[in-house]
Amino acid sequence: MRRKAKKREKDLAMQRIVRLLKLADEVYPSEPELGLRYGELARRLALRTKVRIPEQWRWRYCKGCGSFLYPGINADVRTRDRRLPHLVIRCRLCGEMRRIPYLREKRIRRVASR
Ligand SMILES: [Zn+2]
Repeated sequence: MRRKAKKREKDLAMQRIVRLLKLADEVYPSEPELGLRYGELARRLALRTKVRIPEQWRWRYCKGCGSFLYPGINADVRTRDRRLPHLVIRCRLCGEMRRIPYLREKRIRRVASR
């Protein structure tokens, strides 16, 4: 019983988090400040409820300053695909760089060797 209630609580938290993230994306281009705040709210909610931010959103948070990034507004995104396709995301707020492999679902066995 208790466990079920917990799970329901987490499901609800997850729904709210995803809603906040989508909202953040919607308002970002016109109101970056608001988008940043929604992103922050989602992150805090996730921390408080111990819910993991969904994989497809996780890269949007800067590892350096924790800001919710929006490519083209406060983050630069470049693609690099020599041997190992990946994205390079640079936070304009703190300059932190992050590499993200493209093909998450596929295991790339041949790791780039020089
Ligand atoms: Zn940053």
